[in-house]
Amino acid sequence: MIIGAGIVGSTIARELSQYDLDIIVVEKNSDVAFGSPTKANTGIIHAGYDDKPGTVKAKLCSKGNALWHRIAPEVSAPFKEIGSFVVALKEEDMSILRELKENGEKNGVPDLEIMEDREELLRREPNLNREAIAALYAPTAAITSPYELAIAMAENAMENGVKILMDIEVKGFVVKKGELRSVQTSRGHVKTNHVVNAAGLQADQVSAMARIDRFTIHPRKGEYYVFDKELNGFVQQILFPVPTPMSKGIVVTPTVDGNTLIGPNSHDVEDKNDSATTSRGLDEVFSGAIRLIPKLVEKKDMTIANFCGVRPEPDTGDFIIEAYDEVRWFINAVGMKSPGLTAAPAVSQTVTALLRKSGLELRKKDSFSALRKPIDRSVRRFAIERAKRLIARDPTRGHVVCRCECVTEGEILEAIRRGATTLDGIKFRTRAGMGRCQGGFCVPRVMMILARELKISPTEVTKRGPDSKLLIGETKSLLAEA
Ligand SMILES: Cc1cc2nc3c(=O)[nH]c(=O)nc-3n(C[C@H](O)[C@H](O)[C@H](O)COP(=O)(O)OP(=O)(O)OC[C@H]3O[C@@H](n4cnc5c(N)ncnc54)[C@H](O)[C@@H]3O)c2cc1C
Repeated sequence: MIIGAGIVGSTIARELSQYDLDIIVVEKNSDVAFGSPTKANTGIIHAGYDDKPGTVKAKLCSKGNALWHRIAPEVSAPFKEIGSFVVALKEEDMSILRELKENGEKNGVPDLEIMEDREELLRREPNLNREAIAALYAPTAAITSPYELAIAMAENAMENGVKILMDIEVKGFVVKKGELRSVQTSRGHVKTNHVVNAAGLQADQVSAMARIDRFTIHPRKGEYYVFDKELNGFVQQILFPVPTPMSKGIVVTPTVDGNTLIGPNSHDVEDKNDSATTSRGLDEVFSGAIRLIPKLVEKKDMTIANFCGVRPEPDTGDFIIEAYDEVRWFINAVGMKSPGLTAAPAVSQTVTALLRKSGLELRKKDSFSALRKPIDRSVRRFAIERAKRLIARDPTRGHVVCRCECVTEGEILEAIRRGATTLDGIKFRTRAGMGRCQGGFCVPRVMMILARELKISPTEVTKRGPDSKLLIGETKSLLAEA
């Protein structure tokens, strides 16, 4: 059993699905990638020069980067190797660039280069602050869509036999004579031989249930602005300031979908569920971003959304990927702060090695297929005659539901067939509601399709599962009651 269907749990599930095993993933939310860190992050596949050599993070980040270059295309997840700059704006920053380059080389990051030719920097990034004096260039840094990547990994795992069960919360474990025997869930007991805890922000609570309580996970918030696609091309690659001890700093980056993203800031909070944006936090993000790209000041009115993600910060400062002598068959894959998204496939290989060491027999299956087909979004890319032929075969491909992102009913139906049961589930799989109007036009239409296909009343449709109903009742029935 794998606990948690964030990027870490889904990637472990896909890695293990190549072996002849009986695997279930249990997730307390209603869909894959609904946990805050996986759904709300910067989407960067880091090159791997930030982390101190010798740490688990350092080892697994550069390895994870290399693995995603192979795996993301296999599962047809969005992935663009666009490279990154860490930008020095003053002389004192130069020693930090040199330190990062040295770290990177020790961590095995290829082709790092400190570029000190301002003309060249501005040629590559025409909107960059003209005071930039140098940049550490990392060509292997890439961008992805974190929730689409997690969904793609989960789908491929399911195609290879993994069962993913939603709306089930792990509540405890039965441990006898130092061995984990079964798992108590909100829907009853499950007998299982091996458990991997990939519960993200709640991983310390889950671990404590198995009597391993030697670390805590603290929530650390990060807020963002998303800009309209009209700014597509405003920046070419991922732009970092020099890092601080708290974080990698406020980034300006393109997204895989053609938006521009700025953020995150970094603030410790008390509540793991606190993912609210604040005007103070957003001001901090904007001020940070304009240090790198001053021209953003003129573009502020092109913001289309703000959001906030919560990092699972372990008090140990490093990823915790461990098996335990005192509770056999329980493995933690936790403390996945940044660069957890990048490191996930390397984390999965470490977990697999721990499982093998604990006595689990791992026999490769002949039937394993590494390839996943994406949702067919081809209509919008085809020339008109070809699109017409496709629409003639399937008229739902000609019915545009989300106008901003040009998402058709056919894509929404396919998302539902693949497991989406909520508005956010549709949004993450198709981008319906992610465009300029942020769902102002398509939300009622998507809700009606969900209600029709799931055979429920529109008043039962939710944004992201229980406690997030979108409608309170029928207007006229309320009037009648009055
Ligand atoms: C602001 C921000 C920016 C970041 N930027 C980057 C970046 O650019 N690049 C990068 O590499 N990393 C980045 N990260 C880090 C990355 O997002 C995380 O490392 C990663 O998403 C962690 O994934 P996870 O699967 O461990 O956790 P989660 O996404 O939290 O998944 C854990 C899942 O477990 C479930 N769960 C919890 N308790 C239970 C239970 N009792 N029973 C059943 N299910 C349970 C949760 O519902 C959740 O879905 C960023 C993080 C944040 C917040």
